[in-house]
Amino acid sequence: MANPSLLILPGDGIGPEVMTEVRRVIDWFGAKRGLNFDVSEDLVGGAAYDKYGTPLHDDTMAKAQEVDAVLLGAVGGPKYDVLDFSVKPERGLLRLRKEMDLYANLRPAQCFDALADFSSLKKDVVAGLDIMIVRELTSGIYFGEPRGIYPDNEGGRVGVNTQRYTTDEIRRVARSAFELAKRRNNKVCSMEKANVMESGVLWREEVQWVHDNEYPEVELSHMYADNGAMQLVRNPKQFDVIVTDNLFGDILSDCAAMLTGSLGMLPSASLGAPMANGRPKALYEPVHGSAPDIAGQGKANPIACILSFAMALRYSFDRGDEAARLEATVEKVLADGVRTADLMGPEGGVPVSTSGMGDAILAA
Ligand code: ATP
Ligand code: MG
Repeated sequence: MANPSLLILPGDGIGPEVMTEVRRVIDWFGAKRGLNFDVSEDLVGGAAYDKYGTPLHDDTMAKAQEVDAVLLGAVGGPKYDVLDFSVKPERGLLRLRKEMDLYANLRPAQCFDALADFSSLKKDVVAGLDIMIVRELTSGIYFGEPRGIYPDNEGGRVGVNTQRYTTDEIRRVARSAFELAKRRNNKVCSMEKANVMESGVLWREEVQWVHDNEYPEVELSHMYADNGAMQLVRNPKQFDVIVTDNLFGDILSDCAAMLTGSLGMLPSASLGAPMANGRPKALYEPVHGSAPDIAGQGKANPIACILSFAMALRYSFDRGDEAARLEATVEKVLADGVRTADLMGPEGGVPVSTSGMGDAILAA
């Protein structure tokens, strides 16, 4: 059987730096675990613009549609701020998400014990935290029509956005959440504002429908998103999988991210419809951006990108066992006190560079 295929798009800024460490981890899996990937690498974002005059070449887009998974570093940087909107680096990423139709954005918020002091919350609230937020990514108020700024009847202006969801859009992201829950702790909490929004009423009904008809064995609860925000901060460990719309997901996932500490730790996955092999179309990337302030200095923490590869092992390559091995290794290295600059807290630790963190993870 052919090796599973992986397209790597390092991008800009610290993207290529952290991706170098991921490549070493991927090579390790080939050499030590017999887990080989058909890896190809290409340009995205500013790097692609510099070479091709576009942030995503059509050939790269076509390749992304064919592979089993895409792993992306980060895009953008001050050098590209002057560019026209149509060729900005971020447009490359948006095109990937849109054309691959990646409607389910998975953001784990996991608190490694060694970093529990690092969170903005009390240690007992976050220690051992491991939740997953599933955000609908391709519809809702960010895309609904009509939208615009129009003159009103009193000589002023009115700004309009439309929250719009269809049955199909809600059901497919709900399925992603229930599938995920089956691999985790069989528990989903759906969040909306059914008390004040029609789209929220439909959301609640359709999520319930998918549950009753397709996943009755998974525990489902519903919560208003404002209460959800409060509960996330008060007692986040009551949740396992949270599924919510594009706007609430944007806010709730940032909130959940800060439960865990540094931006340099957080992976993400964006999943689409199942392919012929049964696995979803998928793009994996760290939550952080290109970090121009530290690019080129060997300071970037590669863990978010390495954990993004772990998510690929779990969700695209059906190797949850190897993903858990990689995550446990990261946990051990952190417990040993190995720290890139962003993780260096008052208790100190062993300071390492980007490649030093890669060395420690490979050694462990
Ligand atoms: P984007 O618009 O692409 O999301 P941004 O400017 O909002 O980018 P980042 O590029 O993620 O945000 O950077 C925010 C801050 O976090 C910066 O100070 C950056 O140095 C820091 N940072 C981001 N990623 C990492 C990392 N992997 N390791 C260390 N520090 C990081
Ligand atoms: Mg940002």
